[in-house]
Amino acid sequence: MKLEGSSDRFPADPPSKSYSGIPWSMCISPLSDIDSNSEPNRQMIHHAIRCQSCGAYFCNLSRVDCTTRLWRCVMCGIRNLFESQDLIVIPTDLKSLRDTEPCFKDSSYEINLDFDENIDPNVNEQVSESKNLAIFFVLDLSSSEISFEIVTQVVLKLVQTKLAMHSNVYVGILTMGAGFLGVLDYSLPLTSQHNRLFPVQYDSESVDFTQSVECERILHCIDSQQMMDMLAFSLDSICQYHKTQLKSNFNPTEIEKRYIASTVQLILDVQSKDYATTFMATRVFMFPSGPNCDEMSENIDSNKHAKNMKNVIDDVEAGENGADKSKSGILEFVQSKLSFLFLESVPNRLQAFTKSRKGLAQYAKRTQQSGVMFDFFFNGSHKSDLKQFRTLAACSGGNLVLYSNSTEFNAEILFDDVRRSLDSAIAVNGILRIRTTPEFQVSKLFCRGLRRIYLEEKEDEDAELLDEVRDGDVQDVNEIYSLNLSGSKSSFGIDFEFCSSEGFVGAVLVPCVQVVMRFTKVWVDRNGKFQIQRVLRVSTHPGNSSQSRSVIQKEVHDKVVVKILFRKAMLACRDESPKQARILLRDWLANLLTRLPQPNVKDSHKAKPPKLQLETLLSIESLAQLPKLVFGLFKSRIFCVDAEESDENIFLEELYTSLSPEDFALCVYPRIYACGHSVDLNSMLFFNQNGLALRKDAIDENRRQNSLFVIDNFTRIVIFYTRTATESFPLPSGCALHHHIAHLISQRPIQPQVVVCREDTLDANWFWSFMIEDGTETSGKDVKSRKLINFTELSDEKLQNISYQEFV
Ligand SMILES: [Zn+2]
Repeated sequence: MKLEGSSDRFPADPPSKSYSGIPWSMCISPLSDIDSNSEPNRQMIHHAIRCQSCGAYFCNLSRVDCTTRLWRCVMCGIRNLFESQDLIVIPTDLKSLRDTEPCFKDSSYEINLDFDENIDPNVNEQVSESKNLAIFFVLDLSSSEISFEIVTQVVLKLVQTKLAMHSNVYVGILTMGAGFLGVLDYSLPLTSQHNRLFPVQYDSESVDFTQSVECERILHCIDSQQMMDMLAFSLDSICQYHKTQLKSNFNPTEIEKRYIASTVQLILDVQSKDYATTFMATRVFMFPSGPNCDEMSENIDSNKHAKNMKNVIDDVEAGENGADKSKSGILEFVQSKLSFLFLESVPNRLQAFTKSRKGLAQYAKRTQQSGVMFDFFFNGSHKSDLKQFRTLAACSGGNLVLYSNSTEFNAEILFDDVRRSLDSAIAVNGILRIRTTPEFQVSKLFCRGLRRIYLEEKEDEDAELLDEVRDGDVQDVNEIYSLNLSGSKSSFGIDFEFCSSEGFVGAVLVPCVQVVMRFTKVWVDRNGKFQIQRVLRVSTHPGNSSQSRSVIQKEVHDKVVVKILFRKAMLACRDESPKQARILLRDWLANLLTRLPQPNVKDSHKAKPPKLQLETLLSIESLAQLPKLVFGLFKSRIFCVDAEESDENIFLEELYTSLSPEDFALCVYPRIYACGHSVDLNSMLFFNQNGLALRKDAIDENRRQNSLFVIDNFTRIVIFYTRTATESFPLPSGCALHHHIAHLISQRPIQPQVVVCREDTLDANWFWSFMIEDGTETSGKDVKSRKLINFTELSDEKLQNISYQEFV
C-alpha cells in the first residue's frame, strides 16, 4: 500500500498550511505491491497486534522495549504489552534502523488472515478449497453482427487461455436484448446445449430469478476438454442465433433494447443466495452496445410473470426430452420460443416507457456488499449514456472502458483489456480504516470504490456513496469505509484538516496516518492460477511537520498535488460549470505564485512582478513542473464546455479518477521523447524525464538532431516520423524503442492505442493535436507583458484557446 503526501512535510499549523499554498493531502494506492523493502516486517509480525487503547495496529514505527515487552502505539502514545504468543524477533536497535532501513520509516505489511497456526493445517486446506470465483460474461444481442462475433470469440479465447482447468473458477454466459435475458444452461445434455431465454423482469421487487434458475445450472467449472468443447459449441450457436435474429423481422426498436438492470439483478441474486458462501467474489464482464433499457412499471402482475418463466422452462425441457434435435433444430426451436414470449410481453411493455435513470445506480450498494465487480466495455458506435453505468462501475470497483475511435470492437485489444482486468489484483468485501494522530483528521475524500460506514451501525441507506466530496463533519478519528477496488494502480486522495489552531506545535507524537484494509484479495499467481485470500494490510506513514513554507514547498510531490487538484476541479465542474473548474485551477496557481519566497532582487523597490515570481517557482525543482501540469489539466477535454456529459468525458473522468498520480500526470501533460538520426534507435537517448515542451517550435528546435518523436499520453502512444526521417517505417520490431513501447503497453491497465505516422500526412494530426502549449490567436497580443488575466471575465471560448504563455 502506497501512501504519498502532497509534500513530505505536513504543515505544522493552519497558518503554515495556508502560507505554503500547497494542499495538505495524501494519495493512497491501496492495492499497490507492498514494497520489498518492507520485507523484515513479515518476519516480525505474524498476526494483528493492536493497541488496547485506540485499536491502532502495531507497526515498525512503534517503539519497542524488548526487556519489558512493551511497545508504544504510534497513534495515541499508550504503552502496550506484547502478549505471550506474540512474537517475534525485534531488532534491538530500532532507532538506528529507522535511519538506515526504509521499512522503518514508512511501514507496510500484510497478514494472511487465512493462516492461523492454531488451526490444523489439514482443516485449513479444506477451507481454502471452498473459495471460488464466479465470472460472468454478458453478451448483447443488439450488437452489430461484427461486434457480436468478436465478443464471442474473445470470451471463448479468455475461457480457453485464462479460465479453463481452474478448479476454483466458475464461468457463466448471459445474453440480453430484444426483450429477453438469456442464460446458458449447463444442466442440459451436451448435445443439446443452448441458450435458455427468459423474459425480462419489470417489477424488480417481487420476482426472484433464482426461484426459477438454480445457480448450478448457470455457473460451471470449465475443467475438462469436454466442457470446453461444449462451451465453444454453445457460444457458436448463440452467435448463429444472433445472426438469424438480426435478419428476422423483429421490430428494430425492440432489438436494440438491452435489459442491463435485470441482468445485474440476476447476478446479484445468484451471488447472494446459498451460493454466497461458495463464491468469495464475482466478476462480471459486460459488452453492451448502448444504454440500459429496463423500464419500470408499477402494475405488473409479477406472479403471472414468474409463471410465464416457469412455462418457458417446462416447454423447453419438454422439447428437449422429445426428439433428438439437430443443431439447427434447436436454433429453430429457440427462435420459435423467442417470438412467442416476445408477443406475450408486449402488453406489459406498453405500460411504462419511462427510462429509469436510477435503474443501475440502485444496485450499487448491493454490489459492494456481495462482492460483485462490474466491468463494462463499450465500442463507440452508439451513444451509450455511460452516466448510467458510472455509479455501478465505480462502486463495484470495476472499469468503464470506451473505445471511442472505432465503431466495432477490435478483437485483439478487447481480449487484451479483459485479460488485463482479469489479471490485476482486486479487493472485494473490504473494510478500510483511516486513522490519524489526534491533532488532525480527514476532511475530504476523493475516491471511487469506497463507501463510508458509520460506526453506530445506522441503517444501510444512510451510508454514503463516496464519489462526491464530503465536508468535514467528522468527530471520530477512525474513518471507516467499505470498499471494492481493482488494480494495483488504483488510487484515491484524501484532504486533511487540523482539529485545533495549534496544529502539531507542541504535539507529543509525530503526526502519523495509518490506513488499514481487511479484504478478500483475488489475484493470479505465477502459475496462472486464481488465488483468493483474506488479507489484512497495514500501512503507517509518519509525516514530519514544518512551519517553514519553503521547506514544505521544497518537498512537494507535484503529481500528487495535480491529482488532488483534478478531483477538486471535477467537483467544481459537476456542481457549477466547466468554466468554474478552469478558474479554480488558474486561481490555485496564481495563489501559489504569491506564496513563494521573495525573489532575491537587489533593487526590490517595487512590488514583485508576476514574471519574477514565475521564475522563482520554476527554480524550485519540486514545483517546476506544476505550471505545465496545471495547464494540461486546464486544457483537458474534461473541462471543455461542449464535451460535458458526453460518453467520452465520463469515460475519461472514470479513468482519471482511478489512476495513480504518476499515470494521471501523463494523461494531463503527455511525455514526449525524441530519437533517430544522430541517436541510433538501439541506443535511444530520450530527452530528460520531463520531456520536451508540447509546442511546435520545441519540435522544430530539435528536429535537426532527431528524426523521430514519440508522444505518450497514457491512452495513446504516437510515433511521429519527421519528413527527413530515414529510419524504416513503421518501427523495426527488434529495436530498443520498439521494446520500450511494448514495455509501456504492458504496464497499463488499459491497452493504449499506438499510432505510427509520418509528417505531412493526414495522420500527423494525431501528433500535432498534442501540442497544447500553442495557443491560438495569440499573434496580435503583447506576450511580453504577462499580466494576470482576469479569468472570470473571459468567454468560455477564449478560456479554452488560451496559451501557456498567457496562462502563467
Ligand atoms: Zn493506541
